[in-house]
Amino acid sequence: MPFARPDVGEDEVDAVRDVLLSGWLTTGERCRAFEHAVAANVGVAHAVALNSCTAALHLSLEAVGVRAGDLVVTTPYTFASTAEVIRYFDAVPVFVDIDPVTLNIDVGQLETAVEGLARGDRTLLPPSLRDTVAPRAPVAVLPVHIGGIPGDTGRLYDLAAEHRMAVVEDAAHALPTQPSSHSLAHAERAGVPATACFSFYATKPVTTGEGGMLVTNDAQIADRVRIMGLHGLSRDAWGRHGGDDRWRYEIVAPGFKYNMTDMAAAVGLVQLKKSEVMRSRRRTIAERYNDAFSEFDALEPPSVPPGVESPWHLYMLRIHPERLTIGRDVLIRRLWERGIATSIHFIPLHHHQYYRETFSYVPGDFPVATREFEREVSLPIYSGMSDLDVGRVIEAVGAVTVAAAL
Ligand SMILES: *Cc1c(COP(=O)(O)O)cnc(C)c1O
Repeated sequence: MPFARPDVGEDEVDAVRDVLLSGWLTTGERCRAFEHAVAANVGVAHAVALNSCTAALHLSLEAVGVRAGDLVVTTPYTFASTAEVIRYFDAVPVFVDIDPVTLNIDVGQLETAVEGLARGDRTLLPPSLRDTVAPRAPVAVLPVHIGGIPGDTGRLYDLAAEHRMAVVEDAAHALPTQPSSHSLAHAERAGVPATACFSFYATKPVTTGEGGMLVTNDAQIADRVRIMGLHGLSRDAWGRHGGDDRWRYEIVAPGFKYNMTDMAAAVGLVQLKKSEVMRSRRRTIAERYNDAFSEFDALEPPSVPPGVESPWHLYMLRIHPERLTIGRDVLIRRLWERGIATSIHFIPLHHHQYYRETFSYVPGDFPVATREFEREVSLPIYSGMSDLDVGRVIEAVGAVTVAAAL
């Protein structure tokens, strides 16, 4: 059984076929329609379709003005993208440990770090930079909604307002969300420049194969992102020269090539339309898993904070290794032997060679991230799973757990 499988059918095929036969393949009317659909779904003013969430994160940092040497705070408990985009600017990623329940950035520790850096506390910098970089207030923070569940974003935005930090939300897992709960609402209240970035990568709950969407309520950010996402070509130049001057364009900055194709957008429109139905199937699967696994005191099913509707992008099971004869790695191997593929979310960034060598981090530096990584395993959860498939996963996890019980 695969870990993930996109839920794509004849409707997506028809939508792509229509685009292919239309004579217009790249960014056009389908992308505009997809942007409007996502903006309406999320409840924000602006949405820009891009070719990945990584591109959306990159353009967000560009639009809020991150420069070389700036400090940008994020969490080590995430995918490569979240911190690599900070390095694109030669800015400094400052990691802050996570909350053990939500696995999102710990806002209490974030506050300590931001205030400490603003006061000049060197020990909060990455170890290799403590003698060479001056501690100062970070310019931006990148929280990650692990599994699509926002952390304490209300408090995070208050902190951002107080310290004049921009907020770029890595919301790669977070569609479908709920308009009423979307955290960008806090950005408006706090008056903080902010974006949220969604991913449509093949394994994400709304997919276009590859793709991303940047949403914001800030018109200036949206304008800058549109320009920088397409070679730095000014829209104004197009607007100024209507009629027979339509060939004219102006390069206003060395931009990037991050636009979405209409083929991808056509798939995204179909996916978004059925995203609630797909989520509802995943919720049913999650409830069956929760019921089954709560019987075992060596297993800890994921918890969803009250009032939050999880997209159930991931089913992040955690084990209590001290109650088992095996660790997480052996559990994964045993499940694989029983035909069940799993995944890990995430190997913390500070465990990886690049971050160890460049910033002298050691695994013990963010103990909560390290501990939770070591006991986490993500089980298959996708709308195409049959009841039989779900039963097979439950049976396999149960059997392996019983055999390893202390
Ligand atoms: C998938 C993912 C991304 C990157 O998305 P792409 O669309 O592949 O660029 C970024 N952050 C997190 C947390 C992700 O899981």
